[in-house]
Formats: sequence, structure tokens, C-alpha cells
Amino acid sequence: MVMPLPNWCGKHWMPASMSKLANYAVTGANTRGRTYSEPAPAGRSEFQRDRDRIIHSAAFRRLEYKTQVFVNHEGDLFRTRLTHSIEVAQIARSIARRLRLNEDLAEAVALAHDVGHTPFGHAGQDALNACMKEFGGFEHNLQSLRVVDQLEEKYADFDGLNLTFETREGILKHCSMENAAQLGALGERFLNNRRPSLEAQITNLADEIAYNNHDVDDGLRSGLITLDQLTEVPLVAEHLSEVRGAYPALNERRVVHETIRRMINTLVSDLIVCSEQNIAGQQLDSLDDVRAAPNLIGFSAEIDEAQRKLKTFLRINLYRHYRVMRMSAKAQRIVRDLFTAFMDDPRLLPPQFQRTAEQDRARAVADYIAGMTDRYAIREHRRIFAVEETLA
Ligand code: MG
Repeated sequence: MVMPLPNWCGKHWMPASMSKLANYAVTGANTRGRTYSEPAPAGRSEFQRDRDRIIHSAAFRRLEYKTQVFVNHEGDLFRTRLTHSIEVAQIARSIARRLRLNEDLAEAVALAHDVGHTPFGHAGQDALNACMKEFGGFEHNLQSLRVVDQLEEKYADFDGLNLTFETREGILKHCSMENAAQLGALGERFLNNRRPSLEAQITNLADEIAYNNHDVDDGLRSGLITLDQLTEVPLVAEHLSEVRGAYPALNERRVVHETIRRMINTLVSDLIVCSEQNIAGQQLDSLDDVRAAPNLIGFSAEIDEAQRKLKTFLRINLYRHYRVMRMSAKAQRIVRDLFTAFMDDPRLLPPQFQRTAEQDRARAVADYIAGMTDRYAIREHRRIFAVEETLA
């Protein structure tokens, strides 16, 4: 049965709170549950419990001091992995609500999706992956799963956070076939060419909407890119000229914000309309139908192309800006130095990592480094390598 979509009432949008979840949404009734069975939560849903456990984890708190693009100490106003994750959650919730999907699940996935990231953003991840080449590699997606499944040590009855299958599935956005084969039930969808829940699909694209837009904002704030340069990107140019036309005397900071909020709105609205159409084109009656269908959450071809151009602009002008590259080179050196030092002498590791290093030295070192915040990694590097400090 096709659910009645879209949920318009005359010209006005009816809030999702007035309608029930779609019958293909993830719910407490169709969840595949937790690895270690627990009594049902009282006064909150299974997915609210997941969200709460994520927020109370140490890995989540560390996101505050991890780089998104700009290293944390470069400025107080730039996004960090924490504020990025909160923006992803906001966007994902809005979309999930409009599509009558499980907002709490979308939020839980969004808040957890980056907990496995190394310090120093992608530079850190690339360096650690290179160091781990002979030991199974390092991938932040898999590491996020490792954090919530094993590395958080707080509960009496289990390691990790014992999250629901659907939250864990959403965290694992992509995965090689080789790794999927090691992951049991969670790896099956990659091996069997099945899709994750619509809530997971939403969060994946909410991530993209968030970083494309906030990287424009942070790039402008840093002065590494300019509004003038951005006029070569159609998605920005269109909204920028709209704002400048409507408010000729507006100061630049407000022009930037007004432009970005219009861009986010355009992307979110396009995603909702297209996804509604995709969903309506399928005979979805259950979560199993979602898994068997192609990806249903997506943008129009036009917006896909517009976003591709924006990404290309950011790659060339921001992510490869010489000042970003200098910081990245420094970050990679720190990660490589730390990895080599701990591999050469695991006695330098804190005791809890020494224990796991006895079974798998490289993985224990990678876990330790990946868990570091930017400033902790910088300090740890100094503690291990700076001769004058140890003599002082
Ligand atoms: Mg992200």
C-alpha cells in the first residue's frame, strides 16, 4: 500500500506530530534490537535512549575539540566536529519529521556519525590510515562503530553503548566488502545489496548539506575564500544576488548568513520533495520494502549538479588552500610520529592501551590516537618528543 503523500492540508503543512509515522519508518516495534538484550526503556523510546547514551559518551564530548576543517585553536567561531554533528542532527530531524520518519533515530545517527574521527580532520585520518596500511587500515566510519560497540567503557553489563541495530547501521554509511564480511548482521546489507533505513539515508545527506554550507561560512570567516570568488558557484550566486537585491545596504556578515540559510532551505526542500516522489513511486508497506528498494532519499538532478559544483569549488579553493595544507602537513607529521613512537615502544602507551596492545599492538595504537582531540595530540607529541620540556 502506498502511504498518502505528501502530507499537505490545503496550502498548509500539517506538523508530523498530528500524523502517525509512516509504516516503513523504523520504530520500537520493528527494530532488530540490541546486541545485549535490556528491558525496554521507561518514558522514552529505544532511539531516544540511543541518543542519550551517545550524548553521555566520552567520545561525543571529545568532538568539541576535534577539527572539522579548521584546527580547533585557529578560532573560536569555526565549526568543530561537535557543532557539525549538532547541525547534522537539526537538518536530519527536520527532514525525518516532514517525511513521517523516526526523528529520534535520525538524531541518534547524526550525533554519533563522527565519533570515530581522528584529530585534525581528514589529514589525521589519511595519516593514520597510511600508518595502518599493513594492519587492516583505518577508516573513520568503522571506527565510529568501534567506539559505540567496544571502546566506550562505562556500563556494567557490556562494552560499548549497546545501541540498537538501526542506529549502528546508520553510523556505518559505507564499508568495503572485505570489512562487511567481518561485521555479521551489520555487514549483510553491503554483501546483499540492500539499503539502510530511510532515517539513515536522510542523515547521510543531512551530513552533506551541513558541511557544504558551513564550510562556505567558515571559509568566508577565515578569509581563505571570498564572496566574490563564490559568485562562480551557481548555487551561491543565485541566493547571493537574491539577498543583495532585496537588501542592498545589508552588511556582509548578514549577507553571508542570509545567503547560507537560503541555500540550506533550498537543499532541504529539494530533498524532501524528491524523496517524497521517490517514496510515492514505490509500493512501500514496511521497513523490509525500504531495504529492498533503491536509495529513496535524494536530491533532484539539478541540485545534485549544483552541489557537485560547490564541492569542487571548496576542494580547490578551501580544502587545498596553502594555509590549510600547511596545517594538514603538520597534523600528518604529528600522527605519524605518535604512531611510530607507540609501535616502537608500547610501554609509552597509557596502561589501558598497553593491555589491548598485547593482543593487537597496531589497533591499540590506532584506537588511542583516533580518540585524541587536536590539542591532546599536540600535547602528547610534545610530551614524547620535546627534550627541553622533559628536562625542565
Ligand atoms: Mg560528518
